[in-house]
Formats: sequence, structure tokens, C-alpha cells
Amino acid sequence: MSAIVGIDLGTTNSCVAVLEGTEATVIHNELGGRTTPSVVAFKEDGGILVGAAAKRQAVTNPRDTLFAVKRLIGRKFDSPATAELRRTMPYEIIRANNGDAWVRVGDRDMSPPEVSAHVLGHLKRIAEEYLGKEVTQAIVTVPAYFDDAQRQATKDAGRIAGLEIRAILNEPTAAALAYGVHRTPTGSVIAVFDLGGGTFDISILRIEDGVFSVMATSGDSFLGGDDFDRMVIDALVHEFQEEHGVDLGEDPVALQRLKEASERAKQELSSSLDTEVHLPFVAVGPQGPLHLVRKLTRDWLEQLTRPLLERLEGPCRRAIGDAKLNAAEIDQVVLVGGMTRMPAVVEKTFNIFGKRPVKGVNPDEIVAIGAATQSAIMRGGLKEVVLLDVTSHSLGIRVEGNRFSALIHRNTHIPVRETKIFATTENDQEFVSVEVFQGDTPLVSGSRLLGQFLLGDLPRGPAGSVQVQVSFTLDVDGILCVDAKEIRTGKVTSKRILASSGLSRDTVEELSRAYAGR
Ligand code: AMP
Repeated sequence: MSAIVGIDLGTTNSCVAVLEGTEATVIHNELGGRTTPSVVAFKEDGGILVGAAAKRQAVTNPRDTLFAVKRLIGRKFDSPATAELRRTMPYEIIRANNGDAWVRVGDRDMSPPEVSAHVLGHLKRIAEEYLGKEVTQAIVTVPAYFDDAQRQATKDAGRIAGLEIRAILNEPTAAALAYGVHRTPTGSVIAVFDLGGGTFDISILRIEDGVFSVMATSGDSFLGGDDFDRMVIDALVHEFQEEHGVDLGEDPVALQRLKEASERAKQELSSSLDTEVHLPFVAVGPQGPLHLVRKLTRDWLEQLTRPLLERLEGPCRRAIGDAKLNAAEIDQVVLVGGMTRMPAVVEKTFNIFGKRPVKGVNPDEIVAIGAATQSAIMRGGLKEVVLLDVTSHSLGIRVEGNRFSALIHRNTHIPVRETKIFATTENDQEFVSVEVFQGDTPLVSGSRLLGQFLLGDLPRGPAGSVQVQVSFTLDVDGILCVDAKEIRTGKVTSKRILASSGLSRDTVEELSRAYAGR
């Protein structure tokens, strides 16, 4: 039987694990590392570097070294999130023909799934080296707060890399699975607090007799370690400009050096109270070379990043409320993601949940271990374990006044079917247009259009007299089927709404062939 590997495709680092017997093992990469940087670099001679080799040369090749591409996956070029990335990334982000955010390296335009495929392909090879055989199947994790387009894009990345994605698993659910399978007494409620390089997720799960039931999930898909780094970088750029009148932000090489030094300093301040950023010859001023030397303290970092730390609170409160619990009813808090090593983040979780998080879990590896554990469930090897996940966004249709009417509310267990009846709004209305949206705002303008279709030939009658029953069926893979039925005549129109990554099936196949033939 071929192996199914578990992959945590992180914003900053990725990790691959496989089930050996009943235990999941993290697979070392070619350098002996247990995680691999999610970095892809394109060299002038046409070569492509992935992982640590790509990260190492980022300083000398900032425009052609792609990192944190996960933050772009499934995003439109015009979104505020993309605008923020365009401001801060040394590489070029462009608008694709379909309006998606893509990247440009030299004269090549690439979609985020194409870039992520290089990371997944690299992890696939690491696993193949270790197992001594071809690996063609994987379970890949995504932030719980990823929407359908982002999930689909992740699946496409796998397909391009030659991997069949057997399941897309929510990162906090994977972590809970890895943590809870052997450790949690039945009847426990655990909160998984996952702050990684680019996203923040919080999930609350009840574990009872082997059933892992997600009660609520929330998060912020634009809050992570990169934002902490960015605040440090901005502060140092500002200070340097004040002191020397030189804007380091204009120079991609200086910026990349500063980025690496800032991240390192942030990490060091998790275990030390102070550290130093030391960048000799970072710029040239009228009087000659300029150096950046700055002592940083943990206090300074905490003050600076207070607004980000504060943003962790809202999603936690929302998840606790959605789970209809109070904080005291949560038995354990499990920390996931490298950023949870920052003492102020730990302190924040203590303030919110009123208890110390559990120790002894490696936050960088637990998600991949959970994904590998899920492969055992899929194969029937862990019969006593069942996963019940939820949908992280509400799904509904547009009604009069551009309002959003939800049929399936966020945090509903999947699979699910929901039905609602709507009435016509005009006399002798001939058809209704069913416009399906995903979102959590009262107006559709804040939501994402997933698809639309018409139900025509309605019987004539005054406004409000003709009724249409709309049903939403959402399966475990997040595929939505919508049907609309005119109640009097029984006429039905339905549509399968498949989330789209923005890439057509043919394009994915073509990219996959190109990737295999490199
Ligand atoms: P992940 O996506 O889970 O690999 O998390 C990566 C993020 O965690 C990056 O922003 C890292 O800089 C950050 N990180 C890793 N180790 C530490 C540490 N000791 N202190 C603070 N942040 C860290």
C-alpha cells in the first residue's frame, strides 16, 4: 500500500510526517532539519532552489526569492490584504487576467499554487528519499479560516506537484488530533491556539469517546509572525531615516537583510531580555558607508507589537461565544505555531483563557503529525477516532436590499443540508436569480460571490405570492450544491458550486506535466 504523507504547508516553514506503525514520524530534510523553509528561489541560470538553499541566498537575490506565498493564495489583486503585501514584499505581485494576485519573476508570471507546488514537490522528494519509494498521496493542512477558494488553490498546488490530495485538514483540528489521540481524557474541551508565520486560527474542540468534534473556529487569515517582523522592520527603517536621512525601504538588498535580522531578533527576545541588530555597511550616505547597530529589548518589542497582540483576543472571544461556553469550561489550551514561543503571546492566552497552556508539544511539528494521524483514520487504522469538522464561513444568498441571507451559518458541522423559503419581490416576476455568497457580513458587498444561476418560468402572481425554496447541501470536502424549487409547480434548478482557485482544470494539468518534466 502506498504511503499517505501528512504535510503542514506553512507560511514560513513546512513539515512532512508519515505514519510508521501507529506512530506518526516527522521526516528530516536533506540537511537534517525537521522543518523546511517555504521559500522558492529562481536563479538567473534557470535553476530553482527550494527550502534552506533558497532562504540562504535571499539576501543577494531578493526580487526572485519568493516566501510567504501562502498569504497570497486564493486572493484577489484588489484586496486590501494584497495591497499590504505589495507594500512589504521585495518580489513583484501582479494582477492576473482573472483578477487574482500572482507573482512575477523575471519575465515569468506565476500563480501562488504554482509556487507552492515547488514546496510541496520538495517535501514529496524528502519523503520519497526517506521511505525509499514514490509518494503520490498526501493530506495537506490549511488554516481553519481559509475559505473555499484558498482550499481549492492548495489542492491545485498538490496536483501540480504530482500529489493527489486525499484530504484538506484544518490545522488546529490536525493539532488537536495529534495532541488528543493519546493524551486527553474523554469529555475534555480543548482550545487550539495557532499563531504561525502568516495566519492566526483558534479552534475549540470537544473530545469524547474518540470523537473529535470541532465546536467553533475563528481566526484572522492576515495575522502572523510576518506582521510582527514587519513592525520591527518599519520601526528600524524609520529610526534609520531619522538619523541618517536614508530610506532603507528603497533598497531590496538592505530590506532583505533587515528582514532576516528583525526576525532573528524577535525570536531571540523570546528567550533573552535583550539582543542586538547589527548590520554593517547597510547603506551609503554622503559621508560614506552606514551601519545599523541597535540594541532591542523584550519590553520594546512588546510595546511595539501591542496592537497585534490585542488582535488575538477578538477571534478567541468569538470562538468561545460560538461554542456557547465560557473560558472556564475549556480544560486545556494547546499552543501551535512558532509565534507561540513569544512570552507575550503566552501571556495573552493566559489572560483570555485564565489558564496556562499545556507544555511538551512541539508547535512546529504537531500539525504535520496530526495530518499523518488522519491518514491512519482514512485507512481504517484508528477505528476508534472520528473527526467532525465545521464550516468556517457562513453561506447564503443575496436578497432584497443587497442583504446577505445565510442558509448555513459558520461553525455548523459538515456535512449539512439547510433549506429556506423566499418570496418574489415584484408583481408577475418571471425569474429569480440565485446568487450564492460566502461571508459573515449583513451586506453582500462584504462577501465573496461563489456562483449564480436562474430559476425561470415562474407562475404569474403578485409580489410575495410566489415562493421559492432554496436548499444548500455542503459535503465534507466543502463542495456546495444549491437547488432552488418553485413551490407551486415543483420546478427545480440546481447547481454544483465548486470553489475555484482561479486556475482551470486544464491549466492545472498542463502545469503538472510541466512540473513533472522539469
Ligand atoms: P510557523 O508558521 O508555525 O512555522 O511559524 C513561524 C513563525 O514563528 C515565524 O514568524 C517565526 O519567526 C516565528 N517564530 C519561530 N520561533 C520563534 C521564537 N522563538 N520566538 C518568536 N517567534 C518565533
